[in-house]
Amino acid sequence: MAGPRAKDGILDMPAYVGGRHSIEGVAETFKMSANENPLGASPLALAALQKLGDPSLYPDGEALHLRTALADLNGLKAEQIVCGNGSDEILHLLAQAYLQSGDEILHTQHAFLIYKLASRAAGAQPIEVAETDLTANVDALLAAVTEKTKIVFLANPNNPTGTMISAEEVARLYAGLRSDILLLLDGAYAEYVDPAVYPAGFDMVEAHDNVVVTRTFSKAYGLAALRLGWGYCPPAIADVLNRLRGPFNVNQLALQAGLAALQDQAHIAESRAHNHHWRDWLVQQIGGLDLYVRTTQANFILVSFDSQQTAAAAEAFMCTQGVIPRGLVAYGLPTSLRLSVGTEAGNRAAVAALQAFMARGGND
Ligand SMILES: *Cc1c(COP(=O)(O)O)cnc(C)c1O
Repeated sequence: MAGPRAKDGILDMPAYVGGRHSIEGVAETFKMSANENPLGASPLALAALQKLGDPSLYPDGEALHLRTALADLNGLKAEQIVCGNGSDEILHLLAQAYLQSGDEILHTQHAFLIYKLASRAAGAQPIEVAETDLTANVDALLAAVTEKTKIVFLANPNNPTGTMISAEEVARLYAGLRSDILLLLDGAYAEYVDPAVYPAGFDMVEAHDNVVVTRTFSKAYGLAALRLGWGYCPPAIADVLNRLRGPFNVNQLALQAGLAALQDQAHIAESRAHNHHWRDWLVQQIGGLDLYVRTTQANFILVSFDSQQTAAAAEAFMCTQGVIPRGLVAYGLPTSLRLSVGTEAGNRAAVAALQAFMARGGND
């Protein structure tokens, strides 16, 4: 007899493959494959991790202190914040709650892979919508809406393209959607954008019943290992997610470190400044190597090669030099590599590796 059978959709999904984190035989490596903060977490967060207290006790399942601090910092309503085990969990919860077999979701051409995976897991069909110059195309998204569309996922800025659309464009997208379609605005890289121009979308959540914004502690906050993210939701959606989530979905270390990290906005400002400086430097240096390089609004850049084969050779060669970039075949950008902005030493090593690669005629 056959064993248990998974729901339709799950076996069609490739398992997510993250950025590489180590190289066999290379002692010192610079991991520039997962957009982590090269400055690490705030010292306040590291200190909070030392004070776990009694691990036999369940954490606060309401995440009350953290939600209150997030609300105070961002001028939001704490009761509309839902915390998750990474913002990925919020995306999965939304998909589980609002999608079923026969539904469609829209995502941009080179979107974050979790949108597809979470939607397929819920039985829905992901529809990929063409971008223009690696940027979300609002008209194309609106033209792709059908009566089956239930969620539109938009990362702003997007990973891995790093492009961002304006508040006006986001508003135009929203205005073209039916009220029963959820617009998900993923702000994973929000902290890297100048706050004066960033279209956060929190105001849209407050004005409408069908917009959710997600944020993470994994990128600028430097807490990827702890798995902490959150969503700002209309009240009815917060209620649904609170019923569906595990009662203790965020662990105690994440709650403590996240709360402490929020108190250190100077660390975020320093991280943003480091990122701007070295992102520009990487673009300038790599651009001087006869390679096509694109800057982004986030904490990574894209380096392009003449073919998929050369991109793969460059990735392999950089790894031998201890620099780990992210190959983008799974994202539909097979001739490009994504390189996270690293420490000064990592950035210099990355440029040196690419320079050596080009000097060898683009072969490994
Ligand atoms: C890194 C990233 C996330 C964050 O995921 P976590 O589960 O919070 O670590 C979400 N969205 C995008 C677009 C990302 O690049």
